[in-house]
Amino acid sequence: MRTETLQHIALFDKCRNYTRAREVQAAGLYPYFKAISRSEDTVVVIEGKERIMMGSNNYLGLTHHPEVLAEARAALERYGSGCTGSRFLNGTLDLHERLEGELAEFLGKESCLVFSTGYQANLGVISGLVGRGDVVFLDKLDHASIVDGAKMSHGETTRFNHGDLAGLERKLQRVPEGTGTMVIVDGVYSMEGDVADLPALLRLTQKYGAALAVDDAHSIGVLGPKGDGTAAHFGVTDEVDLIVGTFSKSLASIGGFAAGAENIIHYLKHHSRPLIFTAALPPSNTAGVLAALHVMQREPERRDALWANTRRLQEGLRTLGFDIGPTDTPIVPVLIGPLEKTFLFWRKLFDAGVFTNPVVPPAVPPSQCRLRTSLMATHTEEQIDRALDTFGRLGKELGVI
Ligand code: PMP
Repeated sequence: MRTETLQHIALFDKCRNYTRAREVQAAGLYPYFKAISRSEDTVVVIEGKERIMMGSNNYLGLTHHPEVLAEARAALERYGSGCTGSRFLNGTLDLHERLEGELAEFLGKESCLVFSTGYQANLGVISGLVGRGDVVFLDKLDHASIVDGAKMSHGETTRFNHGDLAGLERKLQRVPEGTGTMVIVDGVYSMEGDVADLPALLRLTQKYGAALAVDDAHSIGVLGPKGDGTAAHFGVTDEVDLIVGTFSKSLASIGGFAAGAENIIHYLKHHSRPLIFTAALPPSNTAGVLAALHVMQREPERRDALWANTRRLQEGLRTLGFDIGPTDTPIVPVLIGPLEKTFLFWRKLFDAGVFTNPVVPPAVPPSQCRLRTSLMATHTEEQIDRALDTFGRLGKELGVI
C-alpha cells in the first residue's frame, strides 16, 4: 500500500529508477556499508572474518588506547551521554573549552572553536565568513565539505585546477580590490595523498589580500614537527589565517575544529549556523579527543611508526609495479583503472582478508578508479607485507601489473 503511494509521487521516481547500486550488489561486488562487528585497531571482523584494516583514517591507532578509553568512560559518568543542545545555549561543557584552549596552543593559534564534525567545521567557517559580495576560491580536489560550505555561503565560488597556482593567480587578478576573498585548500588531499604547497599559496594570498584557510583533516598527527599539521610542516603557522580540522582521524573520535585569530573565532561563534543550530560534541568524545591529543604529544614514536609503515607500503607497491600517483603521505591510492575491475579487485582483496576503500566516479575520472589504502602507526610489518603479497598476486591475476 505504502509502496503504491510512493509510485505516484514524482519526486521519488529517481529512487525507483536507481538500479546501479543494486546491480553491483547482485554481482556480489558491492563494497559499501560493510558492517564491522568487532574492531581491534588494525584488525576488524566483517561478515564473521578477520580482515586487516587498510582503509581507516585512524592514523595513530589511538581509537583503542587505554587512556583514550578511560577518559571517555569517565566523562560519560560525569556529564552523561549527550549535551542535548547547542554550544550556543545549554551545550557548552568545560571540557569543550579545555579542548579549545589546548588545541589553540598545540596549533600555535590564538583561539579555537570545536564543532560537532569536521564536515560542519568547514560548512561553518566558509558560510560564516564568506558573505554576499565576497569570493571563495577552491582547489578542484578540495573535500566535499568545503564544496558544500561554499555552496551554503552567500558569496561567489570559483574553483581552480588542482595545484594550479598560476591559474589561481589569474583568477585572483580579476577580483576587484577590496573584495573579501578566501582561498581554502586541503592540507593533504584525501584522494591523492599529496600535500598543498602552502608557501606558494601564501605568496599569492598575501599579494592579493586574500585569507588562506587550510583543511588539516589528514595532516594533524601526520605532518609537522609535533603532528601539528601542514602549516607547521612548512613553518608558516602565523601566516595561515585559519586551520580547520577533524577529530575523526588521528584524534580517534568524531568532531571538528577551526583555529585562528581570537576575533575571527569570536565572530564565528556568533555567525556560524553549523555551530549554533546543532547539538554540541558529546562529553565522552570530547574527553577522548583531549586524551588522544595528550597521547599524541607524549608518544611521538607513533608518528615515526606511521611514517615507517607508509614508506614500507609505498615502496612495496611501487616495486610491485603499481601506480600510486603523487602521494607524500599515509594515504596511498592504488590505481586500478576501470570501475568493474576496481570493484573486482576490491572484492578479491576483501576475500583475502584485506580491507581497502574503492574510489570511483564522480570522485575520480572513469578510467582512473583506484583502491585507497591508508596506514596506521599500529600496523605491523607482517600485516603490511601480507597486504603487499595479496596486492601483488591479485595485481598479476587481474592484469593491473
Ligand atoms: N575534510 C577532509 C579533507 C576530510 O577528508 C574529511 C573526512 N573524510 C572531512 C573534512 C570531514 O571530517 P568529519 O569526518 O569530521 O566530518
